Amino acid sequence: MERLVARAAKDLVDSKYAIALTGAGISTESGIPDFRGPSGVWTKDPEAERRAYQSYDRLLEDPKGWWEEVLTSPRPGLLGDLESRLPNPGHCALAELEELGILKCVIAQNVDGLHEKAGTKRLLEYHGSFNKFRCVSCGSRFSQDAFDLEKLLREGQLPPRCPKCQGMVKSDAVFFGEPIPKDVAYQSQEEASKCDLMLICGTSAVVYPFAYLPRIARERIGVTIIEVNAEPTPLTREEISDYLIQGKTGELLPRIVEEVKRIKSI
Ligand code: NAD
Repeated sequence: MERLVARAAKDLVDSKYAIALTGAGISTESGIPDFRGPSGVWTKDPEAERRAYQSYDRLLEDPKGWWEEVLTSPRPGLLGDLESRLPNPGHCALAELEELGILKCVIAQNVDGLHEKAGTKRLLEYHGSFNKFRCVSCGSRFSQDAFDLEKLLREGQLPPRCPKCQGMVKSDAVFFGEPIPKDVAYQSQEEASKCDLMLICGTSAVVYPFAYLPRIARERIGVTIIEVNAEPTPLTREEISDYLIQGKTGELLPRIVEEVKRIKSI
């Protein structure tokens, strides 16, 4: 393990354009369950997975009914009270790698906003964010306080409408079956096409199109792909990644950063 931590640190220091890809696993140590890990939401309740896959179709079929149901359902939702969660040492380690000038971008699948809270600046939220809204027509994003949802509910005016184009507004979080917003999809593909190191943290890498990003990077010679994950993934088995450092991101990423700092100070 120590050898792999040292190898990752050296690879990061030698890189010219390193990026990180993250998934639900990086936030489990902040108390947010993942979907497919041993204590994951889907692992424990497969029926919840079926319901989640229907949510986007239900929204399109009946936007008013969908919004009314969301606003009158008991909270917190599937992932618990995200607002109260704090970044863990894994999120902070990635923010520090950016601060050190090594990491150029984080492409997150998570919707929990913890990379932003940890201080990551160049962040692409591939699956959106729970604390923003987005217009399904023009793609404009809005802050949480942009709409008085309770008032719209009382007055029977749901769904919220985009002030720019009158399109339907939904949570920015991308639902299963919903297309990835064009802006983040395009920028993420660009990042995967130009990085020389990809650090993939806490993802089972089975959700597409996100899972194409490592495959895009693998097409080029000389790109190093490192996984930090609790268990092997299809990327490990298909040798898309060069090596897996198996364990917890909240423990391993800070150790990698310490080693990076040691190398840089020599
Ligand atoms: P996933 O649940 O499919 O896989 C998580 C992976 O992380 C598993 O391989 C698991 O073994 C590993 N893992 C769990 N805890 C870990 C830790 N402490 N250190 C290292 N590895 C750990 O998640 P996914 O691949 O991200 O795909 C699920 C989709 O659902 C994504 O879009 C994801 O963002 C979303 N989701 C988001 C949140 C969140 O915002 N926090 C939580 C659950 C799911």
